[in-house]
Amino acid sequence: MAVFVYAENINGVYKKAAFEAVSYAKAVADQAGDTVTAISVNPTDSSDLLYKYGASNVINIKDEGLKNFSAKAFAQAVSEVADGNTIVFPHTTDASSVAPMLAVMKNYSLITNVLEAPESLSPFQVKRRAFSGKGFMHAKAEGSGVIITVSQNAFGVKENAVSGSEEVKNLSVANEDTKVISHEQSSGKLDLKEAEVVVSAGRGMKGPENWGMVEDLANVLGAATACSKPVSDIGWRPHTEHVGQTGKAISPNLYIAIGISGAIQHLAGVNSSKTIVVINNDAEAPFFKSADYGVVGDAFQIIPALTEKIKAIKG
Ligand SMILES: Cc1cc2nc3c(=O)[nH]c(=O)nc-3n(C[C@H](O)[C@H](O)[C@H](O)COP(=O)(O)OP(=O)(O)OC[C@H]3O[C@@H](n4cnc5c(N)ncnc54)[C@H](O)[C@@H]3O)c2cc1C
Repeated sequence: MAVFVYAENINGVYKKAAFEAVSYAKAVADQAGDTVTAISVNPTDSSDLLYKYGASNVINIKDEGLKNFSAKAFAQAVSEVADGNTIVFPHTTDASSVAPMLAVMKNYSLITNVLEAPESLSPFQVKRRAFSGKGFMHAKAEGSGVIITVSQNAFGVKENAVSGSEEVKNLSVANEDTKVISHEQSSGKLDLKEAEVVVSAGRGMKGPENWGMVEDLANVLGAATACSKPVSDIGWRPHTEHVGQTGKAISPNLYIAIGISGAIQHLAGVNSSKTIVVINNDAEAPFFKSADYGVVGDAFQIIPALTEKIKAIKG
């Protein structure tokens, strides 16, 4: 029986997290001697993009009623086509709200924030992130099936091209519960949760008028921008950039924290980053304890100098 994977798209365009989830599903299928079937809702992108990462079947759900996202309706749609006992989701905001609904509908185990390929398939056992990224655990699934969500930027996107085929499923799932009142789109060019490099700043920047240099550094690195909670609370930056326990949890390859003290609530959302660089003028700032590299100094001197240096290297 195939390994199923939910290939999330945004406005029809596949997210990078979808490719990572397909890559993960392919690793599971290879262990099981099986194939991967990807499911997507109203995609406009070509299925070729999913064959590239190992999906040999793609089921495209067409349903006008699913134009607006609702975890319940999307879970219902996926449950109608996912006919296997292993279903993989990316750990994005939307997919990680669909996965538990589907687990309840199917009476399957749910393991979230998975980091590596499974240690065993029967029983399904895998390493996952726990305690807001402060620890790991090895979780074992019980029962007839398992649904997992794959932590973003953990397993990685791995090309594994197969020849594939596509099937279109016309559904009309009830979605009356959803009414879109407002929709806030992230102002940055890059999706913060998908970004491999994030430049983040806190109250040490003194005011919103100083964010130009943070954006310049982000631009030169091809990075997304983020901020601490107080910065978005006082309106210096949009709420979509707030990272931490009460904001977005991210795990980029490189996280650069500027003028952020490193409170435990901030770390909860960023300490899964692969490399952390801290720039702070207080050598005693708690963030240095979690840093791979630290620069003690004035951000207003360091950021422009760093940006110029990177520009010179790139140029
Ligand atoms: C329930 C709860 C949930 C929370 N959730 C979150 C969350 O999700 N995310 C979050 O971020 N916070 C969260 N907080 C708030 C958190 O506790 C901290 O208050 C917050 O992270 C501090 O933000 P900051 O580091 O930007 O500011 P500050 O703590 O004021 O730190 C500013 C830093 O900038 C440095 N600095 C000052 N000037 C310069 C300069 N010129 N150059 C370089 N460095 C300089 C200072 O040395 C200092 O370390 C939460 C708090 C609670 C109680």
